[in-house]
Amino acid sequence: MQDCYADIIVNISSEKLDHVFQYRIPEEMRDKLQPGMVVRVPFGKGSRMIQGYCIGTGNRTDFEEDRLKDISAIVTDGLGEEARLVRLAMWMKERYGSTAIAALKTVIPVRRKIKSREKKTVRLLLSGEDAQEQLRIYTKKHQTARKRLMEALIDEPELPWDLVSEKLNITGSVVKTMQEAGVLEMRRTAVYRNPVRLQEGKDHHVALNAEQQEAADAMIGDWDRDDTPYHRRYLLHGVTGSGKTEVYMKIIAYAQARGQQAIVLIPEIALTYQTLLRFFRRFGDQVSVINSRLSAGERYDQFERARNGDISIMIGPRSALFTPFPNLGVIVIDEEHEPAYISETSPRYHAVETAFERASMENAAVVLGSATPSLETYYSARQGEIRLFTLNRRAGGAAMPRTQIVDMRRELREGNKSVFSRALTDAMQETLLRREQIMLFLNRRGYAGILSCRSCGHVIKCPHCSVALSLHGHGKMVCHYCGYTAPAPSVCPQCGSSWLKPLRAGTEQIEQEVKKMFPEARVLRMDLDTTRQKDAHAAILSAFSGHEADILIGTQMIVKGHDFPDVTLMGILAADLSLNAPDYRAAERTFQLLTQAAGRSGRGRSQGQVVIQTYDPDNYVIHAAARQDYAYFYEKEIDFRRLGGYPPCGAMYAIHMSGPDEKYLEKASGYLQKFALRLAAASHAQVLGPADEPVAKIQDIYRRVLYIRHDDLRVLSRMRRGIEQYIDINEGFRTIGITFEKC
Ligand code: ADP
Ligand code: ZN
Ligand code: ZN
Repeated sequence: MQDCYADIIVNISSEKLDHVFQYRIPEEMRDKLQPGMVVRVPFGKGSRMIQGYCIGTGNRTDFEEDRLKDISAIVTDGLGEEARLVRLAMWMKERYGSTAIAALKTVIPVRRKIKSREKKTVRLLLSGEDAQEQLRIYTKKHQTARKRLMEALIDEPELPWDLVSEKLNITGSVVKTMQEAGVLEMRRTAVYRNPVRLQEGKDHHVALNAEQQEAADAMIGDWDRDDTPYHRRYLLHGVTGSGKTEVYMKIIAYAQARGQQAIVLIPEIALTYQTLLRFFRRFGDQVSVINSRLSAGERYDQFERARNGDISIMIGPRSALFTPFPNLGVIVIDEEHEPAYISETSPRYHAVETAFERASMENAAVVLGSATPSLETYYSARQGEIRLFTLNRRAGGAAMPRTQIVDMRRELREGNKSVFSRALTDAMQETLLRREQIMLFLNRRGYAGILSCRSCGHVIKCPHCSVALSLHGHGKMVCHYCGYTAPAPSVCPQCGSSWLKPLRAGTEQIEQEVKKMFPEARVLRMDLDTTRQKDAHAAILSAFSGHEADILIGTQMIVKGHDFPDVTLMGILAADLSLNAPDYRAAERTFQLLTQAAGRSGRGRSQGQVVIQTYDPDNYVIHAAARQDYAYFYEKEIDFRRLGGYPPCGAMYAIHMSGPDEKYLEKASGYLQKFALRLAAASHAQVLGPADEPVAKIQDIYRRVLYIRHDDLRVLSRMRRGIEQYIDINEGFRTIGITFEKC
């Protein structure tokens, strides 16, 4: 049966976005109308005709039939950028399993009255009644300045500081007092707008080398074609410094010359001043930058400038993907493998996939770049769905570092119980003598609760899922995919040693050891503890970069994005910890981290050295990273994915469930599993779990997860829709949070 009713929203990019109206779909439109389409509908008392967007269709209505109006027409021509973005949002809703409203809110920024040119603003923190109450207190106490400001803020909750100081005659100390009382806050917004002016004209255009030229020529040659088997999707595979950014800029310049616009996604952490400066120098005030610190209103303002044609290049993290350019030419995604490109809130979209979708709607090209492409991307490249270019030459000509793998089991056997191997200790000594710098990277990603044998390196894994089990209370080991449980053994099942322990070494402990061994060395530490304060991160990096310290110790934060030319030794401690994270991507993430870490050493003139300490020296990930050999890693890893049916060799959705009542959650997840199994039987899909999430409880909210898996994403999406309906209909699920994630 065809759907008879449609959900329509009429007012996009306003705070009223959530307001959905129902209309009847006339018979002749029923096989045509799709979510995302633009329609004309009669609206309001006078039934004036206005434009709206269809965000869903169905066969049930909450209204009386005769109160519903008919849709008048489907609009097909003259569709603007907004209409295309709504369609993209509907695609995201469908692919990632979110609500239509959540998808729309992700794609379309909310309009707010904020003047983004102001650098400083005063913002009211109290809600309506509390503000009135506070105003009464000020009045009673004859605190006239506070009263004046309060009245103004009640009218307009955020005011530019200039206005407050000049027009209201409020002093900084009054604002400070009110801020300390929690009444308001003073906001400073980073203004990236045109920092260029200062540097104009300092760009050096470089001549592309042969590899770069080949890639650029191919992309430009494809520009007006829509028949390429790879749909104008490209991957630049090359290490940092191999010249990818130069290629991006070439393509962007070409798009610009044709009157088209460009979006450049860069992971937030790599959105450094240096990178931005290069773009500003080349493209001047055509460039705008957004970052996650911008408020919704400021982001809106930047998007307005894009819509109006004030700028033609938008640089930013994930959300910049939705910049409403009228004639988009290319989307660039640098470091395309970064986990930050996958949203952690619903819809949990993948920026790369979403960029492909947007580009194909708008006839744009997509250029991805990475030294360690995600398995998905490289797999598509191998299948011919993305055109691959490899940049082998390091533009600056720096040599690759020497790497050494140290077997920590052997260190233990030979009596060294320290966290540092003898090889690393020696290398540190020599480096310090040469007055060069050292980085020590403690790979702690996902290490919590993994039981491994320090004598033979054995890790206890799930017999069904090939991922590590993690240790819970009461000596139980649990698989986070299928829920398999087993008691924790007290001795290593492989070698009988009693050195079977969760590894606990932290950065602090390492710092102490270093200070004991090298009392003269100046040491900096960068981890969650030392970077809690605003700007602490940048302060540590700049101190190290200024050679104010000899050794920098840190977690993954230290391996990304920054260039330290004086670093000639990188020590990687416990390289394999993250290999055993309870996650099918553990090997991929580890390879990426280790490769990046190894690449930190020897960026300057002298050759670098890397010491990799591991309990698993024969592991392919360690070897591939030591040799910086992506292809070797890929071949091994794709076999593992194929065997397990993990993406990209199969499709998988996670269904995340959370709630305050553990027993209830367990029961609800059990019902969901039974229902999923019923659907699965018909479509030959697999259901895994339910199991506790790797972090099973956060702030007293329990968390469980169920996985569904199938070779074909379309089959799986159908199944997911069935589950969504089941959740929708059954009241019992109302009290628990459920989100879908496409893995
Ligand atoms: P990536 O984006 O791969 O890290 P970049 O494009 O930033 O690489 O290039 C690294 C450095 O080499 C930059 O300083 C850049 O200006 C320089 N460079 C890139 N390509 C060339 C070239 N063909 N000739 C000379 N220098 C180049
Ligand atoms: Zn053992
Ligand atoms: Zn399992």
